Amino acid sequence: MHQMTLAEIARGLADKKFSSEELTKVLLARISQLDPQLNSFISLTEELALEQAKAADARRASGESGALLGAPIAHKDLFCTQGIRTSCGSKMLDNFKAPYDATVVAKLAAAGAVTLGKTNMDEFAMGSANESSYYGAVKNPWNLEHVPGGSSGGSAAAVAARLLPAATGTDTGGSIRQPAALTNLTGLKPTYGRVSRWGMIAYASSLDQGGPMARTAEDCAILLQGMAGFDPNDSTSIDEPVPDYSASLTGSLQGLRIGVPKEYFSAGLDPRIADLVMASVEELKKLGAVIKEISLPNMQHAIPAYYVIAPAEASSNLSRFDGVRFGYRCENPVNLIDLYKRSRGEGFGPEVQRRIMVGAYALSAGYYDAYYLKAQKIRRLIKNDFMAAFNEVDIILGPTTPNPAWKLGAKNSDPVAAYLEDVYTITANLAGLPGLSMPAGFVDGLPVGVQLLAPYFQEGRLLNVAHQYQLNTDWHTRTPTGF
Ligand code: GLN
Repeated sequence: MHQMTLAEIARGLADKKFSSEELTKVLLARISQLDPQLNSFISLTEELALEQAKAADARRASGESGALLGAPIAHKDLFCTQGIRTSCGSKMLDNFKAPYDATVVAKLAAAGAVTLGKTNMDEFAMGSANESSYYGAVKNPWNLEHVPGGSSGGSAAAVAARLLPAATGTDTGGSIRQPAALTNLTGLKPTYGRVSRWGMIAYASSLDQGGPMARTAEDCAILLQGMAGFDPNDSTSIDEPVPDYSASLTGSLQGLRIGVPKEYFSAGLDPRIADLVMASVEELKKLGAVIKEISLPNMQHAIPAYYVIAPAEASSNLSRFDGVRFGYRCENPVNLIDLYKRSRGEGFGPEVQRRIMVGAYALSAGYYDAYYLKAQKIRRLIKNDFMAAFNEVDIILGPTTPNPAWKLGAKNSDPVAAYLEDVYTITANLAGLPGLSMPAGFVDGLPVGVQLLAPYFQEGRLLNVAHQYQLNTDWHTRTPTGF
């Protein structure tokens, strides 16, 4: 039962082969049996899950239908869930029960999805390895000595290990696509503004975007359908109609123009990953796509620009955690300054503190122009590069990550080494574009992802290309041994 995709579950529920309650019990048992090896969940919500499953079964019995009605999912632990701990992977919020549901959580619940729990993540979504969580590192089910990627590493490991079919994630610089690539999943970061950020604890507000993580593009289409749409509570959410994503999975790739940026194949890329990327290109050619070499000349500036902008926004967003209103408060403060200093010093982990300091520095009066303003200008150049490229091609294709999953602890002493892993993913966030990672092969038994980027609001195009690829390949069906 645990091997089923969302699409298969929807068919099984519609055909009354099993109930949502039965399926939910099977998956909860599987989680309690197997998750101790992975540490992919921070909280389990068994009671809520069983309640939601029964309610979904009753809705089906009364004639309702819907692809998500009775479908088990989990939320990254930065989506606020009413009355349930929402920790953001931090000691700061270990005791925080959200007073309301994030829009994404509410929408999926209304569609009948069943929440099994809240998944582990890098603290405040800062990281690429899921090692900065207050709740401990998450292990990669493909090799328990390796990281699953981050920051949505809990969602990735849980779905890859078949603990559940799909989960939500968020992506500020790659946190959906990179862990998807490192665990053999399909993950989609939508266009900025496509999915509401209301109730999603902010890391870098101009970059953050929620999206689906699942094994197939078909399932990402189903989950995205339940997440996307205008939200009056989020002033950056965009009032554009939401297309039928599952209906977009039928397009032919005949004549589709795929651009492969020459800058992607620079020295930092593992040559074995480069080979797998080119093999995926050959596969798409067989399906009728036309390949073109393109250039994204400002790509080399993306990491420095991102690692100014994201910490700058984080330093501002995280100023609300002051020990006064909610979250962690230090013991016996002697005065207000001591309360602030120790609550923040004790409540935030080292990576979060590093980012707050970098961001506060970049925004300070003497350095604002030199760092923040400069980074924003680079951001525009990167966006312009994409706009020029999309005049010539329909999709941009390349590696999702320069390397496969590394060993736990391997990059801990050198934060910049970890930042460099984001080289292919952060440009989409800086430009606000949608991006998808799909399974494309293995290196030393570890999964490799190929990334597809499309113009604004072309999530359907990304999903269709990935779906056609998945109809003709079987990488996405491979299961990690022991799961
Ligand atoms: N690795 C990047 C960072 O640490 C991206 C994280 C994310 O997308 N949330 O900022």
